[in-house]
Amino acid sequence: MKLDTLCVQAGYEPQNGEPRLLPIVQSTTFVYDTAETMGKLFDLEEAGFFYTRLANPTLDTVAKKIAALEGGVGAMLTASGQAASLISVTNIAKAGDHVIASAAIYGGTFNLFNKTLRDLGIEFDFVSPTISAEELEKCFKPNTKAVFIETVTNPSLDVVDIELFATVAHAHNVALIVDNTFATPINCRPFEWGADIVVHSTSKYMDGHAVALGGVIVDSGNFDWTKGDYPMLTTPDETYHGTVYTEQFGKAAYITKCCTHLMRDLGPQQSPQNAFLLNLGLDTLALRMERHCANAQKVAEFLEAHDKVESVNYPGLKSNKYYEIAKKYMPNGSCGVISVCVKGGKEGAVRFMEGLKLAKIVIHVADARTCVLHPASTTHRQLSDQQLIDAGIAPNMVRLSVGIENAEDIIADLAQALEQV
Ligand SMILES: *Cc1c(COP(=O)(O)O)cnc(C)c1O
Repeated sequence: MKLDTLCVQAGYEPQNGEPRLLPIVQSTTFVYDTAETMGKLFDLEEAGFFYTRLANPTLDTVAKKIAALEGGVGAMLTASGQAASLISVTNIAKAGDHVIASAAIYGGTFNLFNKTLRDLGIEFDFVSPTISAEELEKCFKPNTKAVFIETVTNPSLDVVDIELFATVAHAHNVALIVDNTFATPINCRPFEWGADIVVHSTSKYMDGHAVALGGVIVDSGNFDWTKGDYPMLTTPDETYHGTVYTEQFGKAAYITKCCTHLMRDLGPQQSPQNAFLLNLGLDTLALRMERHCANAQKVAEFLEAHDKVESVNYPGLKSNKYYEIAKKYMPNGSCGVISVCVKGGKEGAVRFMEGLKLAKIVIHVADARTCVLHPASTTHRQLSDQQLIDAGIAPNMVRLSVGIENAEDIIADLAQALEQV
């Protein structure tokens, strides 16, 4: 089935007499006749539900829909995008291991890697999103376990050459993890370009209405963990009576370990209620992405021609350095987010934002309502000046998340605010 059909139909398959719409199984726990049956579930000998921290039917169904959209073998929902990034890396890397990450990634992911995971003993090297294959080669070490990139970066809108990163990572038998939050599977399916694992903050376009925090990890099933150095997947897990994930679960080894090991131990599970809301959002994802992209294209063209604007960064503009590469990876459009540098420095940016009426100032991004944010003084305020430059964030840069309202109304609002700069 096509992606727009999968958005509506994948995951939930009701049987005779069952509800047409995905039920919210708001129960922490599940009943069994005998302790023995339950024991088999504990030992991973049988699949089934026993405690929502490990698995829940509502979560499972929504995860199946997202796995279908990305073309993966399995997926796991998490309480937030941050939890998805955390687990995606720690599922294969521990203290003493090394990870290569693009410097142009979401600010929260950067802090997670550069501070929290470093404090836990994982070593990180951050590289330019436009690094050459030769330079990237030099970053690999014997203990490198993962490469982490973002399809279209929040907020600098760098478009990453997924194939380049995949080819170099695979030459070292290392897995490539891609944060595909901004593009969504509607605009880009990283597995088709060699990515091994995809993560999302579902709090953004997937939910699409800014109602439910969430994340997801999707496993392509394509990476051969036995070829690389991944003892966490290829040697016995004593906490499951010596289960070897690659032997028992084959292509689903990575995602099974995410659920049975890290979700069990860390516990950042999504609530069934949020998964239900996420599922409603997914129903219209394809429709909304089409509108977000069409609106953003019109808005970007308007801003680029405006004399109060210093520069506009949107991969859909012919003047953009990523125009060609975005056409390759996202032929139907990239996302609804634009970054714009207003004339008059930081003060000009603030004046512009405060002059807006329809577009509201919020931290959030990528939902139905047009909104703006000043990254340098909010999401990225922890970064040093050099880190800001590396992440592609100027002091006068405003992140504009174009919603699904009528484009003429959005443009009228921007026009009156620019007059005030
Ligand atoms: C928002 C975001 C995250 C973090 O997700 P939360 O759901 O806020 O925890 C990760 N990556 C990207 C690209 C994001 O935009």
